[in-house]
Amino acid sequence: TVGAITLDTNASMAAATSTSGLFMKKAGRVGDSPLSGSGFYVDSEIGGAAATGLGEDIMKGCLSYEIVRRMGEGQSPQEACDEAVYPFIEKLKRRYGKAGEFSLVAMNNQGEWGVATNVEFTFSVATAEASPRILIAHPGPDHTTT
Ligand code: ASP
Repeated sequence: TVGAITLDTNASMAAATSTSGLFMKKAGRVGDSPLSGSGFYVDSEIGGAAATGLGEDIMKGCLSYEIVRRMGEGQSPQEACDEAVYPFIEKLKRRYGKAGEFSLVAMNNQGEWGVATNVEFTFSVATAEASPRILIAHPGPDHTTT
């Protein structure tokens, strides 16, 4: 899955995901990526988040929504990622004996960003010099463009 969060010059935000789903998935399976709140969530007055990894576990926590909700209460994107994702991984382990691999990225409407993961994970942050547009995408080549 690739997820992106954008902030444009009018302080309008958007989030997007693109995925092939999981390898060997059952026909008809719907993962987290197309589900608002799970695979992505954005509120231009607050910020946005996007996820990659085991959709069944990401959905159990509505993790993208949870991160945006926390940013709305004043947490930085990194605090929101840390506090939404890591305790949830522990909860999954307590409850089911294991947690899938997943990673989340978040950006607030000030262009500050954060990430959380329990695997190796690459992401990109891009800022256009001509306009304060910022993009976070993952997973992908580890690079920054202007
Ligand atoms: N999140 C996707 C899904 O569960 C898979 C992925 O991120 O690669 O469908």
